[in-house]
Amino acid sequence: MDIQPTETTGRTISVKLFHRHGVDTEQADSIGDAIATVKDASDLDEAKILQNDEVVYASERNGTIENWEREWEREKRRLSAEKSTWDCPHGTEFCYADDRCIDCQIDRAAGRTDGR
Ligand SMILES: [Zn+2]
Repeated sequence: MDIQPTETTGRTISVKLFHRHGVDTEQADSIGDAIATVKDASDLDEAKILQNDEVVYASERNGTIENWEREWEREKRRLSAEKSTWDCPHGTEFCYADDRCIDCQIDRAAGRTDGR
């Protein structure tokens, strides 16, 4: 995975479908949309998905779109899990739901948790 699989708006995503007789370029609203476009296409020699003119998927490099989609979804879940920080009552910056700071661990040990 060369880039982070976020789907922030404002990015331009396009799909290039390489046929024997030429190349079709289609715009996509999201990476999911681009994946669907590649899946719908038939008789492809090669397919590429570009995000802001950067190639994020190329069939000859990344394999089938189905495999890459699975990898993409897995990476996206991992990133969103990392972002789900929990609101530390002690204001500690590096305190996560599954990796609490010392103060929170003391709270939990003392039974003073909010149940999370
Ligand atoms: Zn904490």
